[in-house]
Amino acid sequence: MKNIVLFGKPGAGKGTQAALLKEKLQWVHISTGDVFRYNIKNQTELGQLAKSYIDDGALVPDEVTIKMLSDEVEKNPDANGFIFDGFPRTTAQAEALDNLMQDKSMKINATISLEAEDEILIQRLIQRGKDSGRSDDMDESKIRNRFDEYNQKTAPLIDFYQKQNKFVAVNGIGSIDEIALKLEQIVADL
Ligand code: AMP
Repeated sequence: MKNIVLFGKPGAGKGTQAALLKEKLQWVHISTGDVFRYNIKNQTELGQLAKSYIDDGALVPDEVTIKMLSDEVEKNPDANGFIFDGFPRTTAQAEALDNLMQDKSMKINATISLEAEDEILIQRLIQRGKDSGRSDDMDESKIRNRFDEYNQKTAPLIDFYQKQNKFVAVNGIGSIDEIALKLEQIVADL
């Protein structure tokens, strides 16, 4: 069994690539953003709790997010592998993920980072907002806030995973298929 983290700023293409990898490998894809949006849509207690943070472009508190992620892993005892998309986003989350993996005799094999410049990402997000109606993609100040959150809280994870020799950077600019091929190759070599 292998497990990977797809890492990168909002708009880097994590969700798109995770969906393709999931199709290819038949692994379980967990996107914490998607789980939050599902809960908001269905007006669950978790959704109500997360909504104000997501609407502001802020991170949902660690305690809530970590519990939710661990529940999602528990729901899939027969998984061949997990693709974690949008998690971890803080050092506390990364430590919790390592502990969860260890408890289950599993591990993160690699953290694959999709890299692109902010200005390109902002253009992509604004376009996605128009196509999907996602409110946190439609407002440039919310997008900027998500980038600030990334820079302050998520960027330190580069060092966290580099120290574990698990960090692999991939150019996130290019055709979707081209990038998907690169990711497949990285996963095959793990
Ligand atoms: P995403 O779909 O990954 O861009 O996530 C959308 C929003 O959901 C983020 O801006 C956060 O508000 C929230 N979110 C998703 N994943 C996490 C996480 N790991 N930790 C905290 N908040 C998260």
